[in-house]
Amino acid sequence: MSFNALGLSEALLKAISKKGYTSPSPIQQKAIPPILEGKDVLASAQTGTGKTAGFTLPLLHILSENSQERRRAIRALILTPTRELAAQVYANVKEYSEFLDLRSTVIFGGVNQKPQVATIRQGVDVLVATPGRLLDLQNQGLLSLKHVEILVLDEADRMLDMGFLRDIERIMKLMPTKRQNLMFSATFSKDIRKLANGILNHPVRVEATPENTTVEAISQKVYRVAKGLKTDLIIKLISDDNWKQVLVFTRTKHGANKLCKKMVSAGITAAAIHGNKSQGARTKALAGFKSGSVRVLVATDIAARGLDIPLLPHVINFELPNISEDYVHRIGRTGRAGASGQAISLVSADETTFLRDIEKLVGMKIPVEIVEGFEPDPNASTVPIKPGQNRSQRPRNNNKSSSSNRKRDNSKKRPSRQTTRTSSDRRH
Ligand code: AMP
Repeated sequence: MSFNALGLSEALLKAISKKGYTSPSPIQQKAIPPILEGKDVLASAQTGTGKTAGFTLPLLHILSENSQERRRAIRALILTPTRELAAQVYANVKEYSEFLDLRSTVIFGGVNQKPQVATIRQGVDVLVATPGRLLDLQNQGLLSLKHVEILVLDEADRMLDMGFLRDIERIMKLMPTKRQNLMFSATFSKDIRKLANGILNHPVRVEATPENTTVEAISQKVYRVAKGLKTDLIIKLISDDNWKQVLVFTRTKHGANKLCKKMVSAGITAAAIHGNKSQGARTKALAGFKSGSVRVLVATDIAARGLDIPLLPHVINFELPNISEDYVHRIGRTGRAGASGQAISLVSADETTFLRDIEKLVGMKIPVEIVEGFEPDPNASTVPIKPGQNRSQRPRNNNKSSSSNRKRDNSKKRPSRQTTRTSSDRRH
């Protein structure tokens, strides 16, 4: 199928061809036609499927077709859970609207509101926003959502996870009831379905089979290693094969910083990205990583969510996540858009239970390797470490891993979907 067949305008086709896309991705093929028909859409798609163009292209098409009405009032609102995602979606909107007479901007918390307000004052057709800053500016009377014709909720499941439900409900009340609604989510929990029922009007359901079929597209490997030797091993692996563009996951912000420092000392350009970093530092780290000046990006799970880094060749789990689904999200960042990728996990004794659960989820045994000089410690405890617990608090030499422990871990780690928070945007 070609983009021409979707009925998009010449100006959009020109922008698409400038991006180098030759054919629409499955989610684009499925989502674009009903959106162009003006229908509400509920789409199941994760980052990496091309979902952003899936809603941005038809949205821009509709706005430019009816451009005489309400020009420069906010006519389309795209809500995203995180600042990074907002910035990425905005970058897409800018690129795709290059040949259209539409203005757009992005607003998110953590930065000075003045330039954002100044741009909005000049008039924008498309606003990309995180919920906190949007409500802040609205409460100050600095923007109006009274002319919104199209609403997009991007990564709706993340928004609920991050406690934005109340904010979303508030935002809904600020818009006209007659509008087109598009909701994108990677998962469809009861809460998401409830949210969808409240917002969408007879939606068309579209689904893209995730391209990150972990088993096929991604080569996965586990290195069994003593906990204390992980840093040396990761440095060796990256240096020996001269890997570039390596995304490394750690469980904690502190762990990310520590590892980053060690890498830099070993002569590997690295940057950390997590919630304690300023917006400027995060943007700089990501830009450096994308451009190739930073070889290794060390990230925590939530900070990495939604990052658009195409064709990532290597993902390394410095520590396994204790939630198996997070493993799939992590390694889904490699092998995108049909390119093959490599996902490596450094696994110490106390992560044995996590590994077993992950293997159950992905439905395969992940090949194990041991590097000479970096062998696992045969006397180390296999009791899983709990979030927030340091090593000295752990029971020693108990080789029986407890599944009830793990269940408690999970319930602690995941924020409640019901949690409600307001005001400015969260850091993670
Ligand atoms: P997304 O899922 O929106 O984050 O997009 C993932 C990546 O796929 C981004 O780098 C896009 O630029 C790229 N992409 C989106 N649509 C296409 C397409 N039709 N062909 C090739 N790449 C695409």
